[in-house]
Amino acid sequence: MPAIILLSFALALLGAPATAAGKRPNILFIFSDDHAEAAISAYGSHLAKVAPTPHLDRIAREGAIFHNSFCANSICGPSRACILTGKHSHANGFLDNNNSRFDGTQTTFPQLVQDAGYQTALIGKWHLKSNPTGFDHWEILPGQGAYYNPDFLQMGGGKKRFEGYCTDIITDKAIAWLEGGRDKSKPFVLMCQHKAPHRAWSPAPRHLTLFDDIEMPEPASLFDDYGGGRSKTLKEHAMGIAGHMYWGHDMKFHGSKSQFPEHFLSGIANMSYPRMNEAQKRQWDAAYGPKNEKLIAALESGELKGDDVTRWKYQRYIKDYLRCIRAVDENVGRVLDYLDDSGLAGDTIVIYSSDQGFYLGEHGWYDKRWMFEESLAMPFLIRWPGVVPAGAQSQTLIQNIDYAPTFLDIAGAEVPAAMHGRSLVPAFKNPAAPPEDWREAIYYSYFGERTHSVARHDGVRTDRHKLIFFPTTDEWNLFDLEKDPGEMRSVHAEPEYAGTLADMKVLYTRQRATFGVSSATVPQPRLGEGWWKKRHAEKVKAAKAGGYELLFLGDSITHSWENGGKEVFAKYYAPRKTLNLGFSGDRTEHVLWRLLNGELPPEVDPKVAVLMIGTNNTGHSMQEAGETASGIRAILDLLRDRRPEMQVLLLGVFPRGVGPDDPKRKRNGEINAIAETFADGDKIHYLDISGAFLADDRTLPKAVMPDALHPNPRGYAIWAAAMEDKLAEFGGWEKVAPPAGD
Ligand code: CA
Repeated sequence: MPAIILLSFALALLGAPATAAGKRPNILFIFSDDHAEAAISAYGSHLAKVAPTPHLDRIAREGAIFHNSFCANSICGPSRACILTGKHSHANGFLDNNNSRFDGTQTTFPQLVQDAGYQTALIGKWHLKSNPTGFDHWEILPGQGAYYNPDFLQMGGGKKRFEGYCTDIITDKAIAWLEGGRDKSKPFVLMCQHKAPHRAWSPAPRHLTLFDDIEMPEPASLFDDYGGGRSKTLKEHAMGIAGHMYWGHDMKFHGSKSQFPEHFLSGIANMSYPRMNEAQKRQWDAAYGPKNEKLIAALESGELKGDDVTRWKYQRYIKDYLRCIRAVDENVGRVLDYLDDSGLAGDTIVIYSSDQGFYLGEHGWYDKRWMFEESLAMPFLIRWPGVVPAGAQSQTLIQNIDYAPTFLDIAGAEVPAAMHGRSLVPAFKNPAAPPEDWREAIYYSYFGERTHSVARHDGVRTDRHKLIFFPTTDEWNLFDLEKDPGEMRSVHAEPEYAGTLADMKVLYTRQRATFGVSSATVPQPRLGEGWWKKRHAEKVKAAKAGGYELLFLGDSITHSWENGGKEVFAKYYAPRKTLNLGFSGDRTEHVLWRLLNGELPPEVDPKVAVLMIGTNNTGHSMQEAGETASGIRAILDLLRDRRPEMQVLLLGVFPRGVGPDDPKRKRNGEINAIAETFADGDKIHYLDISGAFLADDRTLPKAVMPDALHPNPRGYAIWAAAMEDKLAEFGGWEKVAPPAGD
């Protein structure tokens, strides 16, 4: 065999996807916000001809376009968190934009590629509330950011305002970093993340009158009636072009008070306008003023009415949206030119994607969130010279949870087993067919939030069918995407789909099991309960003060180390500097939420954690033992990820109920039988101290647990003594002797 073939064979075995032997490629990840596939001409939609995107199309032409690319949770923050962590939302903790804050201490791909020798930078929209971690350089928009004369948060603290249009400025900054901001001896990952074309769709001055002379084609379902057996929650949406467009904010009239309240909502003014300089304001007014006056006259005269008002709103919306995209496309062109001119193009992978899709009037909507195709789909274009065949079209099912493993694979770094996604490198090398052993379906979950009134739902999508479950109304919807690509009819109740429905439900259950999705694993706060919220705030503050060697995690039984267990605690644990994170009434999902939301900051780096949780999962709903155990598993996974060196003492759930046949006692025993298997012989240790509490006939004596659930002071003394050997060993502490006479 010639040496050259042997060499390439060896490289293939190593899985090194470098463009040239020994050299790892750069990754330029260009990412926009709310860019629907239908607004990229390479995807070929009704808008492709009237609003072409030649520079984006160039990436597809010189590389590949993925037609079955999806997000895991169709909103801004959650999609970004999925990308960074390679995990579904319930596991990375960023469930929604209202209540979540990204825990940047968890494992993310930027940290890992940085460790692998890459330079990392992020410029533009971030929207995860906490500051970025794992980047050599970042400069981000605060929150949603502004289209005109935007502020950027600076790495060293504070923010700076820059004159100009956001999409142009982000590109300027990205090119400046490529040119002079990085260590050129290292490969790089640059995430260039645009605000555009996010609501409220404010175009650049140069594009304000683009498309003025044409009528945009309407989607077929602009006047959807939400029938066809689809979930009754569809009608409850607050994201309709007909009913939910704001006079000032969305439609670009001056003031926040609607002149026609029957057609336009009042309350939010155009937020771009006050940020503009005088010249920008003049251009803006020159573009919108005459068109706005014409609309007002037509409404006043009655010339425009009924559905035609909705059509007008659609035109205003879609043109502004596409104008914003024009600037994105031009700026993609600028970056591609820079790569050519600088000689970087040959060694640089270029990916274009967006955090989710968007409704461009389909189903009468703007916005995203639903698991329907338009917002589930994420555009995905990739150019990788020498690896991705030019002009390739792929139908492989890919998802944003795959990006992190992909980038790690490209960087030659190990992909953590806890990541849910898979490397797409094999799919890039041969886009024409799915890689061997590829997924049958993608899993999606939207957790519901106040904004836009979209009900919680989750589901699975194969290459042909989509199954959605709406838990608030207990409804299933099934779509045949081949026969009904517009998803106008749910066939879940149709006899000829009974087999498909059954198969899809099996897939749904299997996917949820694979990713550990259950009510016990989806992080959940109890912020509606004042005492809980207050205790959480106090514990976050205490945690930030740091200096703890021992961590207690659990529910009321742990909480009461501060009450019934106080004296025992003072003797055993106060000297060890212990942080008690027990919260009365908590279940596994609450512990997860707390750990993801400030109770485990970098300042808390204990030697040992003691975890005892689950009895409320049993007590509140007699949850299946396997489900509760999956919640315990999720907490252990989180602790392993954040504190790989910490010893974890997992206690079997304490016995409850007076007699051994108490159903809740039995259920806790079933949980323990599973939890015992979580010990890993390294850092996770399982200990069941039930025997120390129980009488010889296995009844639970009132003398230690008067309510057959919570220990009294004597019970706490028994608890402390029973785990002292292990605890002292793991923490390297001197053993505390039990009180004389016990
Ligand atoms: Ca978005």
